[in-house]
Amino acid sequence: MSPRPPARRGTCPAFLAPMETGDGLILRLVPAEGAISSGQLRGLASAATAFGNGMMEITARGSLQVRGLTAETVAPLQDAILDLGITPRLGFAIDISPLSGLDPREAADARPLAHRIREGAAGLAGKLGPKVSVVIDGGGAIGLAGHKADVRLAAMRSGADVRWSVTIGGGAAELLAEPDAAALALDALSRIAALGRRARATDLPGCPATQGDAGKPPAPLGTFPLADGRFACGIGLPFGAGAADLFAALADAAEVAGAGDLRPATERVLLATGLDADGARAFATEARRLGCLVAPDDPRAFVAACPGAPACVCAHFPARDLAPGVAEALAPLLDGTVTVHLSACAKGCAHPAPATLTFVGMDGGIALVHEGAPSGALGPALPADALAARLATLAGTPRAPGETGRGLLARMREADVLAGLCGCVKETTDR
Ligand code: SF4
Repeated sequence: MSPRPPARRGTCPAFLAPMETGDGLILRLVPAEGAISSGQLRGLASAATAFGNGMMEITARGSLQVRGLTAETVAPLQDAILDLGITPRLGFAIDISPLSGLDPREAADARPLAHRIREGAAGLAGKLGPKVSVVIDGGGAIGLAGHKADVRLAAMRSGADVRWSVTIGGGAAELLAEPDAAALALDALSRIAALGRRARATDLPGCPATQGDAGKPPAPLGTFPLADGRFACGIGLPFGAGAADLFAALADAAEVAGAGDLRPATERVLLATGLDADGARAFATEARRLGCLVAPDDPRAFVAACPGAPACVCAHFPARDLAPGVAEALAPLLDGTVTVHLSACAKGCAHPAPATLTFVGMDGGIALVHEGAPSGALGPALPADALAARLATLAGTPRAPGETGRGLLARMREADVLAGLCGCVKETTDR
């Protein structure tokens, strides 16, 4: 059977509106307070097995997902989640650091401002589209600079005070005190809502259509000191996904290590907080044993992959199955300057932003986009089973002194080597 065309961009799963994909419905869950207990994660894993296909995910924006539901099992899963005492976030997304209020490096705790905006926007429920988002960056150890937002607020220290830099869509930033920042954010959300549920901030009159590229912050892997003298430890799910058994084992490990709670975090990371130093080490050791990422230089941290075939009916190749081999083959180039995205069709679910190398499933093979997004793909060039070997050849190219991985790829592009190895290459300007 031929892959099905993907749903239009702008659709995504939610707690009350699971989205259909190749392996059934996906339910997305963001705990309203950002944290759940190890017992709740164990219960969620059990429910994912009972009502879904046993696969769970943590997304790039730090949402939990349960895959493989049917129309009949959605409501029982929702009931099970509520019975576990997990309160899901409903309505539009307000993203803050998972360590807000705990992080000694933050300029401001983002939670009060998030609460103020959510309360103020209560009347807009149902009027804002599902992709509209607010990002509030308190300036701590876990940056949110790489997250696209309709409204972005970033804390700035000004002497003893804190002011908030507010950006609407791609517009110029305004530096404001917290009440004025909240008022400006709410005014922007009202104006977006007035344009209809498909509107985004960039549709507002006078708002530039593109946002600047602030760069992707590193995945929050490793140990983070907390304000109370304890620690948080971030571990990564390989390509954001794992069997429910893995999530249950991580819940057990966190409990044994003495964690206070667990927080899904950006870049497909799970943070255990409230650990002492020995507990942080023990949690990381067990997570590594379970196959998870525990350090930011793990090559897998630089590769995003959607589930691909057979999980998604739109897929042209098994993206997540190929991802470990791609990460291994490209490891010499993955020095923090290179991002890689395996997208089994042009929708780009796993990494909507441009990447250094994007591999896009198309009829009969895989197309390469250099410095662009999946929508920039020209046409299939590579058979899926040749991908890892071609990339290993590419990664074996000697680098000039001081040359970064991204620099080498740009040089290979200039010299037509990328095209020689990977067939037709589309370089876009949308980075
Ligand atoms: S990007 Fe991947 S998961 Fe998303 S619709 Fe396409 S094949 Fe499916």
